[in-house]
Amino acid sequence: MQSLFQQIKAGQLWDFHGGIHPPARKQQTQQKPIGRMSLPDRLYVPLRQHIGVAGTVLVQPGERVLKGQALTHASNAMAVPVHAPTSGTVLAIEAHPSAHPSALPEPCVVIAPDGLEQWRERFPLDLATAQRHELLERIQQAGIAGMGGAGFPTHIKSAASSGVDYLIINAVECEPYITADAVLMQEYATTIVKGIDILCQLLNPAAVLIGIEDDKPDAITAMQAATSQRDSYLVRVVPAKYPSGGEKQLIQLLTSKEVPAGRRPLDIGIVMQNVGTAFAIAQAVLDDIPLISRIVTVVGQTLSQPQNIHALIGTPVGTLLDHCGFAPEINQRVIMGGPMMGFTLPSLQVPLVKTSNCLLAPTQAELPVAGPELDCIRCGACAEVCPATLLPQQLLWYSKAKDQDKLKEYNLADCIECGACAYVCPSEIPLVHYYRVAKAEIREQSREELKAEQAKARFEARNERLEREKQQRNARNQALAAQRQQQMAEQQKQREVAAAQARIQASHGEDQAETLSREQIIAAREQKKAEARAYQQAKSAAEATNMPAFVNETATSSAGEPATVNETASSNRSDAVAAAIARAKAKKAQQQDGAATETADQAELKPASLATEAESDSAAVVDPRAAAVAAAIARAKAKKAQQQDGAAAETDSQAELQPASLATEAESDSPAVVDPRAAAVAAAIARAKAKKAQQQDGAAAETDSQAELKPASLATEAEADSAAAVDPRAAAVAAAIARAKAKKAQQQDEAAAETDSQAELQPASLAVESNAEIAADPKAAAIAAAIARAKAKKAQQATEPKDPA
Ligand code: SF4
Ligand code: SF4
Repeated sequence: MQSLFQQIKAGQLWDFHGGIHPPARKQQTQQKPIGRMSLPDRLYVPLRQHIGVAGTVLVQPGERVLKGQALTHASNAMAVPVHAPTSGTVLAIEAHPSAHPSALPEPCVVIAPDGLEQWRERFPLDLATAQRHELLERIQQAGIAGMGGAGFPTHIKSAASSGVDYLIINAVECEPYITADAVLMQEYATTIVKGIDILCQLLNPAAVLIGIEDDKPDAITAMQAATSQRDSYLVRVVPAKYPSGGEKQLIQLLTSKEVPAGRRPLDIGIVMQNVGTAFAIAQAVLDDIPLISRIVTVVGQTLSQPQNIHALIGTPVGTLLDHCGFAPEINQRVIMGGPMMGFTLPSLQVPLVKTSNCLLAPTQAELPVAGPELDCIRCGACAEVCPATLLPQQLLWYSKAKDQDKLKEYNLADCIECGACAYVCPSEIPLVHYYRVAKAEIREQSREELKAEQAKARFEARNERLEREKQQRNARNQALAAQRQQQMAEQQKQREVAAAQARIQASHGEDQAETLSREQIIAAREQKKAEARAYQQAKSAAEATNMPAFVNETATSSAGEPATVNETASSNRSDAVAAAIARAKAKKAQQQDGAATETADQAELKPASLATEAESDSAAVVDPRAAAVAAAIARAKAKKAQQQDGAAAETDSQAELQPASLATEAESDSPAVVDPRAAAVAAAIARAKAKKAQQQDGAAAETDSQAELKPASLATEAEADSAAAVDPRAAAVAAAIARAKAKKAQQQDEAAAETDSQAELQPASLAVESNAEIAADPKAAAIAAAIARAKAKKAQQATEPKDPA
């Protein structure tokens, strides 16, 4: 059994289902040479003339273009450029009626030809040396698309590098009236074969099958002659049957293979190209002539000169028809394409495009208009002629119902829109029209579904991205939170350490301060003690030298037992001082703040009172002026006493000669009215206090320490007063000291009274009363002591001889 290739090479043919045999009507143009026409006034070059997308416009209005110059640039694989059909000027880039049943306007480059036919520079390729990619690029840049009517970009279809068993050149041209390919083969068979050579160089097929219907004998002869030198090029003559020129139908005719539904011929190892496309490839590669013209059959009984014309792309249909002697009749129809698959143009301004192979301008009698549409009678004639083995009546039903699922189920996509079904339909139903509308709706639905799927994909991708970002953000926030917590913990530790260190340092500082303070206090006390001892010694020495009268008096009164008397007196004095201090403290606590005022009043009312004098001294020390006033008052009292008593002079002289003794007795504060000398002493004391107040706080501090250490000392009296001036309690102490001194003086007086006989004459009751008062009230004791001293002194004066001085 022969293989398929052997069968094909042996010339075996196969058949396809259905098909019709309409009248060919090719004799009007098939035997005529290809005509030429003059340049039209305007050329309208649509930017998109193929299946795919338009290129980017490269020219601007007003720009002069050369013949063959690219007007657009192919920006992707599915785009092919368009070129200027001739030299001229770009008038505009605007919308113009398109080659479509609706004639909807599409962007076009409007060119005004200049008649020069000036070509751009051309660069033919050497087929022997040209690379594969150079050939494919040249095919694309030449703007070649399928010229059989589909308009698929040729460079894509020619790019298969392997797996191609057969390259089929479609030269069947089964549509009635159309003879463009036939005349092309008759006149340009050699060029067509060169184009096939280029395709074979790209596709490397096992064999080339050139299919030609048997009603084109001249074309068959020409092609057989052109391919006689190529063994793999097989010219196959097929019976005239419509639609033998269909891609799937021709493949089945020549190879017995059927292209599965929804698949491409390449899937079964077959590539098919139109014979006109092969011619265009040869021109593009070998002559660098882009697709700027094509052969179009202009036919119909309304034309006086029907013919095939080599016309420029962009030539208006009306211009072509006029060139062929167009004489339209009423309701003239002009069909672009054949009578089976073509469409009626709504306007003659539609330009010629790359896929336009025929312009038919028939008369009404020649090609009657279809009658009114009737209902389907389900005769089944349509199904019998369908070359795609479809069920046209079912497709009609679902097309009207817009049941797209059913349409898909009944393989509407496999319909080649051949029109055979409509051609045989007794109800004159425009079946192809319904199928085209249904296909457009399905394409639109498919685009919407694709958009929806893309939108859904974008939405899901967005959700995934947001979720991913959310998770990343959460992870980042958690990491930052953990880092912050760690930092806060470290900072807390640092603060605790710092606080502990601060406490330790503070504790050390307090210990040091406490140690220093304690040491300083001890040192200060030691220093004060030393100073007190030195002062005591100095004071003792001063008393020994500056107070002979007092010592003598004491010694005389002791009557041979001075030591015993002094010890007894010292002991009594200490006790009295202690008692006086205790009483003064108690009294001071009771008097509080008001004691100062009361004391001031008492000082004014009872200047002779010892306690009052101490309090007034305190007030005077607080205010130096008050002390000065008190001193002045004392001096005035002394002066007054001097004036009243004539013996005051003698007393004054004695007071001057014995200042130490007087100073010692000053604190006894005998009333000045009683004893002028005491008043003088008080004045001296006041002056000393005023002076002391001027010595500021430093002297007061020294006086405080001395007052504490030597409360019983006579010489300490002034210092005690100063302390009292600083501190009311010290003043009270000074008063107590004064009272102690008064008691001492009383004791001395009592001792003197023991040696004096007159003392024995004194009533015992007086002595008892005096002792009782002393015990009861310190001030009374002081007064009693002063009285006693005065009496004792008076008695002494009475017994002693007067001083001759
Ligand atoms: S040929 Fe026309 S009438 Fe007959 S079945 Fe088909 S659509 Fe219906
Ligand atoms: S137009 Fe479609 S349905 Fe009708 S005969 Fe042709 S392929 Fe079949």
